[in-house]
Amino acid sequence: MNIHEYQAKALLRSYGAPVSDGRVVLRAEEAKTAAGELDGPVWVVKAQIHAGGRGKGSFKEEGAGDKGGVRITKSVSEAAEEAKKMLGRTLVTKQTGEAGKQVGRIYIEEGAAIAKEFYLALLVDRVTSRVSFVASTEGGMDIEEVAEKTPEKILSLSVDPATGYQPFHGRRIAFMLELEGAAVKQCVKLMGTLYQMFLEKDMEMLEINPLILTEGGELKCLDAKMGFDSNAIYRHSDIAELRDTTEEDPKELEASKYDLNYIALDGEIGCMVNGAGLAMATMDIIKLYGA
Ligand code: ADP
Ligand code: MG
Repeated sequence: MNIHEYQAKALLRSYGAPVSDGRVVLRAEEAKTAAGELDGPVWVVKAQIHAGGRGKGSFKEEGAGDKGGVRITKSVSEAAEEAKKMLGRTLVTKQTGEAGKQVGRIYIEEGAAIAKEFYLALLVDRVTSRVSFVASTEGGMDIEEVAEKTPEKILSLSVDPATGYQPFHGRRIAFMLELEGAAVKQCVKLMGTLYQMFLEKDMEMLEINPLILTEGGELKCLDAKMGFDSNAIYRHSDIAELRDTTEEDPKELEASKYDLNYIALDGEIGCMVNGAGLAMATMDIIKLYGA
């Protein structure tokens, strides 16, 4: 199960991780008041959909303007204007597919002064069967592209579950990111916090892209993507409440009411299969024979 950026940031904030102050808006009329509660001089207006690449995305409808799903504004009224343009419209990004996703929520956030952007993620590494950190100096970018073209710029660090997170993990990440002084200390603490969150909340994936170094020399989580293990959601009623069913495929949603593991795919052949491995093999065979 995935959650929105603003929800992930609230969770980060509750663990003491550094995030900017922001307000979520569901209706255009609320945008001005929400932005007015935040400090300028820059307000960032961010479309909330369960997909990345929003900044470089584009809207299907003309009324949304041509500035993508993350907009930097210089006044409260401009922020409200941009929020109004995006609400209810369809954002297409590299991760949404052609159909795009309708924007039902907007997050307005205080703008940060960015000195550097990094990539940071925690995930379950199936090769080592451990939780791994993935860090890179190439933040704000497409990490798949970095992995392909400049793999040496990515540090992958797995944590032994017997010892758990240790300060040396954080220091290795800090040195990889070429941090200095107080930021190294902050990094060691932040990585420990993220690891703790990841375990306590049964996450599958936690991606901060970008993690930034501000001009003031502090680390901050500027974007946040979180995925949770659906089989463990019953242990976390607080997380279950964050589910936004409008983000899910209506067919999958309907099937889930009957406890069916239905995965919606495109194409014109349906597979009704007993077991995940058999499902994959069946699809491979169908594909092999040209369908
Ligand atoms: P996405 O990954 O979906 O495009 P991000 O949240 O990563 O969305 O935003 C895209 C870019 O916009 C970031 O890499 C950053 O440069 C900029 N940005 C996002 N939030 C802020 C903010 N609060 N202050 C300043 N710049 C921001
Ligand atoms: Mg991002």
